[in-house]
Amino acid sequence: MNTTHLETSIKPSVAVIGGGIIGVTSAINLLKRGFDVTLIEKEAIAAGASTGNCGLMAVGEIVPISKPGVLSQVPGWLTDPTRPISVRPLHAITMTSWFMQFLKAGRPENVQHIAKGLTQLSAAAAQAYQPLLKSAGIEDLLQPYEVLYLFDEQKEIAEGQYDWDLRLKYGFNSEFLDHKALHDLEPEISQDIACAMLMKGWDYFADPARLTKDLARHFVEQGGRIRIDKVAQFDKQPNHVTDLTLESGDVLSADYYVIAAGAWTPLLSNKLGDYIPLEAMAGYNTTIAKPNVQIKHPLLHHHGGFVITPMEMGIRVGGTLELGGLNSKPNFKRAQAIVEKAQKILPNLQNEDAKEWVGYRPMMPDTLPVIDRSPRFNNVIYACGHGQLGITYGAISGELVADMITSEASMQMDMSFYRADRF
Ligand SMILES: Cc1cc2nc3c(=O)[nH]c(=O)nc-3n(C[C@H](O)[C@H](O)[C@H](O)COP(=O)(O)OP(=O)(O)OC[C@H]3O[C@@H](n4cnc5c(N)ncnc54)[C@H](O)[C@@H]3O)c2cc1C
Repeated sequence: MNTTHLETSIKPSVAVIGGGIIGVTSAINLLKRGFDVTLIEKEAIAAGASTGNCGLMAVGEIVPISKPGVLSQVPGWLTDPTRPISVRPLHAITMTSWFMQFLKAGRPENVQHIAKGLTQLSAAAAQAYQPLLKSAGIEDLLQPYEVLYLFDEQKEIAEGQYDWDLRLKYGFNSEFLDHKALHDLEPEISQDIACAMLMKGWDYFADPARLTKDLARHFVEQGGRIRIDKVAQFDKQPNHVTDLTLESGDVLSADYYVIAAGAWTPLLSNKLGDYIPLEAMAGYNTTIAKPNVQIKHPLLHHHGGFVITPMEMGIRVGGTLELGGLNSKPNFKRAQAIVEKAQKILPNLQNEDAKEWVGYRPMMPDTLPVIDRSPRFNNVIYACGHGQLGITYGAISGELVADMITSEASMQMDMSFYRADRF
């Protein structure tokens, strides 16, 4: 067994666990603040949700998944696996307390609180990416085209009035496009689509996997280290973690530990006795290399629960929310179902040379991430639970993690929204 002490220099050291977007941005920000940083990833950089997501900078998505009226939809989620949201009945039994917290989060007063917490991150999200993209030389990845939210009939807009009002209240605007304006902008969209809302400020990354991998490459070029191995155990004193053991048997010791392990975070937080109620929410995609259509804007359909994103490697049709745990067998019928729906929106879309994928969003019951010190160990920081918004909040979360370790309050944010012990 080898014991590696990261304090090889006078610099304080940090071990960041998880090579997804949150771990990578945390690692870069810490390196920039003068720490000696090792990023530990069990499989490969961007092996988890950060690879196959829809790439949206969904800055105005400050409406939590649980909101007033959600309870009436739950029976459908349990009985119909083709819905945009579904819950595997056997898994439902194991997640009763998460579900109760989820329903509680949907009370009107709680939704306002959550929207405020999401707005703080959203307001800083885009700007936080600029220095990272620039220093890694990958500004080309961020596309300037905003999301189009599509409707079959204009009257459907009113069905989402609660969401539109909430977004507007917190400063996120959208612009109505009638049939002609929409089809002038994106001629390949079916004439059956009546109109759209152009979601102001919601642009997208042309390849979220490349985003994460190129930032990781930049981290190494700047002097960071990446270790491919699985964190298996922690050694602890009453108030702090002394070192961690990797699956290979090697032991690593650092001054600080950042846990950014996405949907796998509870497997680590349980070892520390911290309660982080995070569920793995599966999402599927199909990336079509030769789609036979050209669009510039990502498309969201009001009844669809999925996104069509024009990426640099083809068109990605991705989305749907499925609660079934980390170990359930993927149901790729969900990926096929959303491609069929996408073909109704883009009639010329061909499903050839296509690749399916499943990934797991790290989902807290209240849609807010956790960015906080461990309640038990003062040198452990959690950065997890970004749910459906981890790409959007990637850069800002990395900055906040670094602020937390350096005890800086540069952004003057109210961090109580993201507390680890709020449940
Ligand atoms: C279908 C789909 C579409 C999405 N679309 C969008 C979108 O358009 N916009 C947006 O903002 N967000 C989107 N998301 C959400 C976004 O992808 C996630 O919130 C984000 O990727 C989470 O990043 P992460 O770093 O926390 O987790 P991950 O990317 O899952 O990374 C966690 C990493 O930790 C590693 N790890 C776990 N345990 C250990 C261990 N013990 N030791 C070492 N390493 C470990 C894993 O291997 C993994 O690589 C989408 C998600 C899905 C599934």
